[in-house]
Amino acid sequence: MRVASRIESLPPYLFAELDKKLAAKRAEGVDVISLGVGDPDQPTPDHVVRAMQSAVAESTNHRYPSYYGSREFRQAVVDWYMRRFGVALDPETEVLALIGSKEGLGHLSFAFVDPGDEALVPDPGYPVYAISTLLAGGIPMSLPMPAERGFLPDFEDTAVTARTKLLWLNFPSNPTAAVADRSTFEEAVAFAVEHGLLLAHDAAYSEITFDGYVAPSVLQVPGAKDVALEFGSLSKSSNMTGWRIGYCVGSAHAIRALSIVKTNLDSGQFTAVQQAAIAALSGPDRVLDELRATYQRRRDLVIGTLNGLGWELTPPLGSIYVWLPALEGQSSAGFADLLLDEAGVFVAPGTGYGPAGEGYVRISLTVPEDRLAEAMDRVARVVGG
Ligand SMILES: *Cc1c(COP(=O)(O)O)cnc(C)c1O
Repeated sequence: MRVASRIESLPPYLFAELDKKLAAKRAEGVDVISLGVGDPDQPTPDHVVRAMQSAVAESTNHRYPSYYGSREFRQAVVDWYMRRFGVALDPETEVLALIGSKEGLGHLSFAFVDPGDEALVPDPGYPVYAISTLLAGGIPMSLPMPAERGFLPDFEDTAVTARTKLLWLNFPSNPTAAVADRSTFEEAVAFAVEHGLLLAHDAAYSEITFDGYVAPSVLQVPGAKDVALEFGSLSKSSNMTGWRIGYCVGSAHAIRALSIVKTNLDSGQFTAVQQAAIAALSGPDRVLDELRATYQRRRDLVIGTLNGLGWELTPPLGSIYVWLPALEGQSSAGFADLLLDEAGVFVAPGTGYGPAGEGYVRISLTVPEDRLAEAMDRVARVVGG
């Protein structure tokens, strides 16, 4: 039985491949420390778990949920946007609940990309933007994020064609950890307006920021709502990767198109999970403050170790990653293999995030400090000689 060519022609999903390599090493009895996958190690906050426990016992929640998200969940997102960004949204037309933001990111291509259409995708970038473009029959076009520019795009140097439909951005960035200020978003909105593109901004890490840096929203740019969608997630900000809850906000036209794809393919997220997410969105600031402090300590440990070994890394201001140039003369894959084979430390090769990821590996800060310290000791022994 032959699978569809759209499946056969896809490159293998990076994390699935990496998991196999990691499992093989562990099967050999090696105590591998995985800094590969960006899945928070800490539990979901107590007040969120408690909200779920009572919501799950509510029989009204046991039926099909609303396609668009419950009225209460959409209102909680609206309230959060006003509190956090000073951005006003209409809960009826400008907010949509997602079954994790990845679900919405992936489905967006089916709402905007016809076969042969093009989408500008950050290179390096989160793989979903390019892969969903391919699945929809479109062509991912590289939007370079050069190191010399602090891994920010250069729109003056970005070509579009009559077939370009979508412009993807993600700040703070997975994998580069770069952050954007409001001026980058202003340029992006102007570029989208000029070329008639939909600007899709993935803000999964907007709340994971350090040293007092506060990430902006693309919707703070005047006129952004006409051309932009912003995707949010509770996965990283509330340690809820397993729960599958996110949202997208912005252009009512784009929300309507995405909701047509979704109403035909899924039936929404469990209302009890949405109630837990409301608790997460309205939870005490202390929870996020502690989370930021934890990642900042881990970041400092990694950056401190690596700079002691001769790297010259600027501590990133956001995300849960450190984007590390490979040793002189080493490829991404070669350096990742060296760390796995010699140090028992598993990192993600940069090429998994696009051709421009060559020469880098991504270190994830999602392991407890004692294990991270052990991983850094091992890296120092291998690299430091
Ligand atoms: C983790 C992550 C997400 C979040 O995905 P969910 O489906 O909400 O868990 C989205 N975008 C990027 C870039 C991520 O790294």
